[in-house]
Amino acid sequence: MQPSDDSLHLGNYLGALVSWRNLQNKYDSYFCVVDMHALTSKFDPAELASRTRQTAAQYIAAGVDPEKATLFVQSNVPAHAELAWVLNTLTGFGEASRMTQFKDKSQRFGNDGTTVGLFTYPMLMAADILLYQTNLVPVGDDQKQHLELSRTLAERFNSRFGDTFAVPDIWVPESSARVYDLQEPTAKMSKSAESDAGLIRIMDDPAITAKKIRRAVTDNDALIKFDPQNKPGVSNLLAIISTLAEESIQQTQDRLAGLGYGDLKKEVEERVMAEIIPVRERTMELLAGSELDDMLSAGATKAANVASETLAQVYDKIGFYRQS
Ligand code: AMP
Repeated sequence: MQPSDDSLHLGNYLGALVSWRNLQNKYDSYFCVVDMHALTSKFDPAELASRTRQTAAQYIAAGVDPEKATLFVQSNVPAHAELAWVLNTLTGFGEASRMTQFKDKSQRFGNDGTTVGLFTYPMLMAADILLYQTNLVPVGDDQKQHLELSRTLAERFNSRFGDTFAVPDIWVPESSARVYDLQEPTAKMSKSAESDAGLIRIMDDPAITAKKIRRAVTDNDALIKFDPQNKPGVSNLLAIISTLAEESIQQTQDRLAGLGYGDLKKEVEERVMAEIIPVRERTMELLAGSELDDMLSAGATKAANVASETLAQVYDKIGFYRQS
C-alpha cells in the first residue's frame, strides 16, 4: 500500500490486511510500503517519511508479523528502481498506454498533470513482484491488468535472455471483502472520496468513527436484507458485520431479521470498534518507540539480499559489464 495517508481505512483492513496476516502463515511472504509509488500522486515531502512509518506500524498492528514475513519499505531496497529500468526497456509504449488505470488517471489530470512516473508505474510494480521470485500476488480486481503485465514481462525476459523469473499468479481471496463508502455505498470506500464522512479510518478518534457509523446511509423501507442493487447502504453494513463476525451474510441477515436499522448500526459499531481500537492502540505504541525502525531495517536487509540476487542474475543475462 502507498503511504499516502496517516491512516489506513476499513477497506484496506478487511480487503487486504486480514488476508495478508493469514497468508503469512502459509507462504514465505513479502510485504512492503510502496513509498516510490507514492511519488506518482500528490504527496507532501514533510509527511512522506512519517506516513511510511505509520503505514508500516498499521501493517504490524493489524497482524503482519515481521518474524514470519519480510516487511520493508520499498525505497530502502534500491533494486526495485534498478529492475524497473530494465523492465521499462522491455515494455512497448503501446502496451503501457493500454493500462486502464493510467488511461483513467491521465484523463483526469490532463497532459500537464500526468507524469512519466505514472506511466511507468506498472513496470515498477512488476519489479516489486519479480525481484522476489514471487509465485502468488494477493491483489484486488483493479490490479489484475498490472499483474498480467508483470507476467508478460517475466515471460518476455525469460524467453529473450533465459530463465530468470518465476511467473506470478494472481491470488484471489476466498471471500472478497469489499467495503463501500458509508455515505455513498455504491462507491468503494477510498481515501480519495470527496467527503470524509463515509470513511472509517483506523487511526481516527473512536468517537468520530462511532458518529460516522451512526450516520451511515441506509434507506426508507426499514428492512434488513442483503440486496446490493436496491439496498446498497444496508448491504454494506451487513457485509461488514458478516466479515467481522466470521459468518455468512445469510447468517447475519437471519440473525438480525426483524430488528431496526438502529440495531444494525449498533452491531456495526460494536464490531468495528472491537476490531480497530486494539490496532489503533498498538500502532500508537509502535510509533512511539524505535522497535518499528529496527523491524523495518531488518526487513530491508532481508529483502535486499533476495532482491540483489535476482538483480545480479538479470544484469548477467542482459550482458552488463560486471565489476569483479
Ligand atoms: P489502495 O489504497 O486503493 O491502493 O488499496 C490498498 C489495498 O487495499 C489493496 O489491496 C486494495 O485491494 C485494498 N482495498 C482498498 N480499498 C478497499 C475497499 N474499499 N474494500 C476492500 N479492499 C480495499
